[in-house]
Amino acid sequence: MHPFALSRVDDPAAAIAAHARDPELAFIAGGTDLIGLMKDRAALPARLLDINGLPGMARIEALPDGGLRIGALARMSDVAADTEVRRRYPVVAEALLFAASGQLRNMASMGGNIMQRTRCAYFRDEDPLPCNKRRPGSGCSALHGFNRNHAIFGWSEACVATNPSDVAVAFAAMDANVIVRGRTGERSIPFTEFHRLPGTTPERDTALDQGDLIIAIEVPARVEGRASHYLKLRDRQSYEFALVSAAAAVAVDGRRIRTARLAMGGVAHKPWRLRAAEMALRGVSLDDIDALKSAIATSFTEARPLAHNAFKVELAQRVALRALQTAGVRA
Ligand SMILES: Cc1cc2nc3c(=O)[nH]c(=O)nc-3n(C[C@H](O)[C@H](O)[C@H](O)COP(=O)(O)OP(=O)(O)OC[C@H]3O[C@@H](n4cnc5c(N)ncnc54)[C@H](O)[C@@H]3O)c2cc1C
Ligand code: SF4
Repeated sequence: MHPFALSRVDDPAAAIAAHARDPELAFIAGGTDLIGLMKDRAALPARLLDINGLPGMARIEALPDGGLRIGALARMSDVAADTEVRRRYPVVAEALLFAASGQLRNMASMGGNIMQRTRCAYFRDEDPLPCNKRRPGSGCSALHGFNRNHAIFGWSEACVATNPSDVAVAFAAMDANVIVRGRTGERSIPFTEFHRLPGTTPERDTALDQGDLIIAIEVPARVEGRASHYLKLRDRQSYEFALVSAAAAVAVDGRRIRTARLAMGGVAHKPWRLRAAEMALRGVSLDDIDALKSAIATSFTEARPLAHNAFKVELAQRVALRALQTAGVRA
């Protein structure tokens, strides 16, 4: 195990200042991802700063506009069990309950969840295989290697990894915001801009800078929120990351879709919104399966599967359709 020093902090300003001045320091919340990365030598911080003592950051609070503010230190299991989360955004509660295990969800924080790093086996492997995310400039072993679990959208020659967070897909569908405090004060980052595409700098997963602390995630009031569903397909039924997943939400006039929200997991370096499909779904009847399929297909013309994951193109469309239908039943 990589040696490290551990200290604790109870003041956000002190935490931000410490992180800003020390590139060898990492925040630690539940530790369920970071400690694994350190064991795999994919993260080697010299100092860990335990942020669990920061005040007020584990709360789940109602916002004046009818939305919810979920503190970055709230535990996944507490958020999944929260009555208002389940009532207003079933898609968020379901995405959390389909993630990891009960024990992990009790430990893991919401901030840590959206910061977790890819499960690409080459990135996590202790052997020094080429990986641009782990060692920039070394190459991408997955591009022409074993890439069954990798991206079909938005990848680059430098990295074809996917983002592993389930709840991030639900937040992207709901157009949530990440509330971040940093060296220059507080800012709100739209969830769909929080995670990056790999481009030529796959070592950077998010829009965060040194010194940035996630304070909360805010989910605005959404008419589609209550009629929402998260569907996750994986190689085994429990304790496994998504092969493909979909977060769907709809507002309807009778059986016709007024607005739809669709985001997918397991297909890109970030939660992937199906914007073209969302537009094409307007006015379509939930009973017209062929029209629903055609609308969803409009977002898949830009899919670029790799050698081992062409099956995801068809599978993802089926998952999106099924998630949409279940959301429709709740409308
Ligand atoms: C076996 C296993 C199975 C899993 N299965 C799933 C799954 O199916 N779906 C899924 O979504 N997840 C899954 N996970 C991932 C799990 O959900 C994450 O490990 C967990 O949510 C991370 O939260 P944490 O508080 O433990 O983060 P930590 O490990 O403490 O931190 C993770 C990262 O976030 C940073 N960080 C933490 N809090 C903040 C903050 N407030 N501001 C800025 N940076 C911060 C840390 O510096 C670190 O870089 C699985 C994990 C394991 C080990
Ligand atoms: S896909 Fe990304 S994380 Fe995986 S080996 Fe390639 S560069 Fe590394």
